[in-house]
Amino acid sequence: MFTRLHSPVRKNNLTLAAALALFVCLSGMFNVCAQEKSKVDAKPAKYVFLMIGDGMGVNQRLAAGKCLPEKGAKLFMDSFPYSGLTKTNSTVDVTDSAAAGTALACGVKTRNGVLGLDKDGKRVESIAELLKKKGMKIGIMTNTPINHATPAAFFAHSAGRGSYSEISTFVPEAGFELFVGDGFLINKDDKKPDDMLKDKGYMLLNNAGEFRKLQKGAGKVVFTYRITSAPISADPKKITLAECLAKATELLDNDNGFFIMMEGGMVDWACHANDLYSSVQETLAFDDAIKAAHDFYLKHPSETLIVVTADHETGGLGVDSSSRPELFMSQKFAKSEIINRVNACKKEKASFEEVLKVVQESFGMKELSDAETKAIKDAYDALMETSPSDTRAEEIKKMYGTKNPVVEACSKILCTKAGITWSTGEHTSSKVKTTAIGSGAELFNGEMDNTGIPARIKKAMSIE
Ligand SMILES: [Zn+2]
Repeated sequence: MFTRLHSPVRKNNLTLAAALALFVCLSGMFNVCAQEKSKVDAKPAKYVFLMIGDGMGVNQRLAAGKCLPEKGAKLFMDSFPYSGLTKTNSTVDVTDSAAAGTALACGVKTRNGVLGLDKDGKRVESIAELLKKKGMKIGIMTNTPINHATPAAFFAHSAGRGSYSEISTFVPEAGFELFVGDGFLINKDDKKPDDMLKDKGYMLLNNAGEFRKLQKGAGKVVFTYRITSAPISADPKKITLAECLAKATELLDNDNGFFIMMEGGMVDWACHANDLYSSVQETLAFDDAIKAAHDFYLKHPSETLIVVTADHETGGLGVDSSSRPELFMSQKFAKSEIINRVNACKKEKASFEEVLKVVQESFGMKELSDAETKAIKDAYDALMETSPSDTRAEEIKKMYGTKNPVVEACSKILCTKAGITWSTGEHTSSKVKTTAIGSGAELFNGEMDNTGIPARIKKAMSIE
């Protein structure tokens, strides 16, 4: 009778259940093994890249991704395994780059315009300064001036981001191994920090060829050069953010590790001008630099951390799934350059047909409807009437403000065609996207405050 209970069906069920149980058990064990293996493999981060796209909000990333030539391709920075949204407010809802930089560098909220001081004016240490004390090499890199708000938050302590001369004196004081950027901003009648830098043993370079030739052991370097976001002004003599980053990893690599902060600073400038073409180009150039950081990560995957974030969003850019930002890719120049061209036409009192030709070529607008041509003609009339005294109708002034009316009219036509909108020429309170890969990257998953970023980097490095 007993054996009858073991009917083939029953037996099969039992076997299946046992196999299933064994599978669950084994896969559980494998999971534990995998987790423990990754714990053993993952060492504290020793090589850290903090990549900050100034003004690079969620939609700036989305728009740039949609402009990649390969359909459905992702920005490299959006392929990282961990991501979250980051709050950007300063002591007020909408931050500026000084307060946001201070949050990302020093982990404290402060007032807009303030660098490296808390809201009560007390000096706070940046993560770069802390890591320098711990014997790591430090690189601060940007494509804006070196003493502009975002990079300055990592080495300066000043109540006013516009005190450029004072802020530049913090560069030699910081003693970091590498500074790269578009020169120094200096207040009227003041001197550049060159002598102070030389006194502190810095090598000053302003030539891409010399920078390219530098080798490991070169000592402390300040490299000032106009860094290009490739296609805007393609020039082989110029140097890209990606090339600068690759060289920095070569120069700073050492047994104690390094911390590199690179800012893609021109996304913000493009978005203040509501210039989608330039925002996309700048974001793509910054993405290339992130690829260069990833090349280094591949050589040291268990000890490298790459964090990509932004200080705030600029422009209130609206993009949705039906938007076609790629239509802007037939634009030939940055909006600021097109404004220069149209202003030159105005100086020469060029005819409407001549101006129309210039803007159609510059914006890559092949065909225009009658209504679009009329809108540009109205803007042309407004442009030609603006000097010497502004006699334009109030409505026209309100519509075009102090911007170039012809360029704004063309820009508006392109935005409508592409289905994108701008809500402001200023910063917004939107959250930004943070993505990360490497040692401790899981700490950057989910929502966080901008002040939490340096704290998470320290945790990933096992530094309290
Ligand atoms: Zn800005």
